[in-house]
Amino acid sequence: MNSEKLPKHTESFWHKTSHVNEYPKLDKDLYVDVAIIGGGIAGILAAYEIAKLGKSVTLLEARKLIYGTTGFTTSKLSAQHNIIYNELIERYGKEKARNYYDANMEGIEIIKNIAKKHDIKCELKEQDAYVYTIDKSKVSHIKKEAKAYENLSIDGELVEKLPVDLDIEAGIVMHKQYEFHPVMFLSGVLK
Ligand SMILES: Cc1cc2nc3c(=O)[nH]c(=O)nc-3n(C[C@H](O)[C@H](O)[C@H](O)COP(=O)(O)OP(=O)(O)OC[C@H]3O[C@@H](n4cnc5c(N)ncnc54)[C@H](O)[C@@H]3O)c2cc1C
Repeated sequence: MNSEKLPKHTESFWHKTSHVNEYPKLDKDLYVDVAIIGGGIAGILAAYEIAKLGKSVTLLEARKLIYGTTGFTTSKLSAQHNIIYNELIERYGKEKARNYYDANMEGIEIIKNIAKKHDIKCELKEQDAYVYTIDKSKVSHIKKEAKAYENLSIDGELVEKLPVDLDIEAGIVMHKQYEFHPVMFLSGVLK
């Protein structure tokens, strides 16, 4: 796309389709067990987990809640981050590579459990995740990654087609991944 046609300001689809409650400005000294700086997914979920332990928590946001990186993501909850597993095995070994996958999958479970426990409507939906190439010279990388999935018993495999109308040279699907509406989810957690 010609850059002149790009909008001057980025807008978040997630903010356009959801609402975040206003919270009061900090206007006095507070004494709490834990103060957390930053109202993105990391800060909000850390505050949630610490509050659950019975500690008093204050979450401090300099600008607007969920308006940092978290308000502008692609909203996938996935253990598939580009091609990474073959490299993780080569650099750190099979056990650590599998730990990485398990940690990511556990993260998805945590979000699912919080949404369920508090009945947060956040368009949480199971999806397959894909990584693919349209470049013939990159097919060998995709094949190596598929072997790494096999080696680590990751639920996924090599594919020749995507479920969308796009010709690819090769791809890998990872099953049982999720998508959600990050602002709806985190507004629910804040409440
Ligand atoms: C385009 C894009 C797409 C992405 N897509 C995905 C995806 O699909 N799935 C996925 O898992 N990850 C995705 N990511 C990564 C993910 O979005 C980030 O890792 C995550 O949102 C970071 O959350 P955070 O809470 O650490 O940071 P942020 O969401 O940036 O929150 C940090 C907050 O701290 C506040 N802050 C900073 N300094 C101070 C201060 N001194 N005092 C008070 N407040 C302060 C900021 O204002 C901000 O609100 C994507 C990233 C990008 C850029």
